[in-house]
Amino acid sequence: MAFPSAWLDELLHKNDIVSVVSEYVELKPKGRKLWACCPLHGEKTPSFSVSPDKQLFYCFGCHAGGTVIQFVMDMERLTFYEAVQMLANRANMELPNEINDREMQRQRAYKKRLIEANTEAARYYSGCFLNPAIGKDAQGYAARRGLNAEIVTRFGIGYAPDTWDSLLKLLKGKGYSEKELVDAGLLVHNAERNTVYDAFRGRLIFPILGVNGQVLGFGARVMGDEKPKYINTGDTPVYNKRNNLYGLYLHKNEKLDDLIMVEGYMDVIGLYKAGVKNAVASLGTALTQQQARLLKRYVEKVYICYDGDAAGQNATVRGLDILKAEGLEVRVITIPDGLDPDEYVQVYGKEGFDRLKENALSLNAFKLEAMAKGYDLNDENGRERYAKTACAFVAGLQPIEQERYYRLIAKKTGYALEALEAQGVRSGGLQMTEDRTPIRGGFRRRIETGEDPRDVTERTLILACLHDKLALSRAIAENAAELIKNDTYRAMFLAMCEQGSAFSAAKYIGELDEKQAETASAVLKEEDAMENAIETTADCIRRMRRESAEDEIAALRAKLNKPDLTAEERNAVLKEITERIRANK
Ligand SMILES: [Zn+2]
Repeated sequence: MAFPSAWLDELLHKNDIVSVVSEYVELKPKGRKLWACCPLHGEKTPSFSVSPDKQLFYCFGCHAGGTVIQFVMDMERLTFYEAVQMLANRANMELPNEINDREMQRQRAYKKRLIEANTEAARYYSGCFLNPAIGKDAQGYAARRGLNAEIVTRFGIGYAPDTWDSLLKLLKGKGYSEKELVDAGLLVHNAERNTVYDAFRGRLIFPILGVNGQVLGFGARVMGDEKPKYINTGDTPVYNKRNNLYGLYLHKNEKLDDLIMVEGYMDVIGLYKAGVKNAVASLGTALTQQQARLLKRYVEKVYICYDGDAAGQNATVRGLDILKAEGLEVRVITIPDGLDPDEYVQVYGKEGFDRLKENALSLNAFKLEAMAKGYDLNDENGRERYAKTACAFVAGLQPIEQERYYRLIAKKTGYALEALEAQGVRSGGLQMTEDRTPIRGGFRRRIETGEDPRDVTERTLILACLHDKLALSRAIAENAAELIKNDTYRAMFLAMCEQGSAFSAAKYIGELDEKQAETASAVLKEEDAMENAIETTADCIRRMRRESAEDEIAALRAKLNKPDLTAEERNAVLKEITERIRANK
């Protein structure tokens, strides 16, 4: 729902953020901002700030932030349109008369036009796929991937021929302008040569449908080894990947018990084919708040089932927090052996997948499991260190939940329940349960010449963890210890994990020898990390994980992309991957 921008300006002008927020909490000035205890998450010390100059709010605790409209949306749980309506009422403004608003009519007509162009394109790609001559290779590839005729029809799978202008010619012939087609993401404009050409060439096409079944964009996958493996329609006037979930439109009029969040098209389709029909994918974006809200309109319970590799597990931890913040019940399905869901159902079928779903972990159990992977539990030392960090985590949970998880730790480590509880009390408890912290990007580090960028990342992480207990608990849950390569930094991080809030950097560094002390002190120089410790931590871990896991996994997976792989060979490769990953653990 678009409002004319002049009207919105007036709305914002008449709803000063300070006066709107003041209707909910009392703001106190400090510096150039006004502060309060955050009305969006419970807290005792003010981390919620309003900037009158910028007309923005930001909470350093839960990371909510934005304009006055966003504030009303968060506060009153409204959609954008409803929030605007409420603010218009507040300011005694009439809503713009949509019918007579020319600009709005024009925008709406333009969007409709782009969707029609997308629909034409989808029809064309589908025709190419089914054409015995043009679609021969695509059909062969689809058959090898197990995409039968029913699946092809159900998901509208198509093929974009390997030419530069076949779609261009067709749609121009139907009266669409180049600008319209570029805006829809169907053509690419080359500014240097001032030419346009087809955006998708020689790829299998997956139309992306909105919840109402309109064609909003496309995903396109290579059929061989080329890179990139997937390309998707970018943001257009009709498509924004942050607001959509692939596959959700299939369930428009269904009553569902739950939905399963997966990463890509092939996971949705692979599961569907195996009989697990309620999977949806976030398509190359970390799960967003908008997507979580969309899910909430359909179900109360969501299973996260990301790839079993490190990157997937990392994404899972972040997704959990976002879903939980929207009030969804969340469970985690862990795919063994580093396989992705599509690969897993190919080998083990629906029954195998259902078993995994039955054994799905709760949010906290998942975090404790993820934590355990960082330690060797066959070794007494490893058990002790795991018990310490895990207890620090559990001590931060609701008292009623603690017992269950202390039991889980007791089972894993063999320590007595009383000892674990005492350890938890001593650690001071890392607050983590109500952690509603959607992670945003923005990790920009200055790297001094000649310095190993890895060291900078590790230092930044440690400083962020020193600065914020929530950041530390996130780092613990994501096994940061195993990712830190620098010995001095790793030792320091482990000491922080074990001592919890009792840890003092000054005291710790004071006890090191001179060389180590110098390295460790460098941590305290990374002041940039202070501004937003949790976000920084997540970014550091993401980097570290990506670096160590990516190469390895990519090499294994490359094998699966060989164009002439038979189903049998494919299974053999999958088994090989399984074994290799096991050996790597
Ligand atoms: Zn907050």
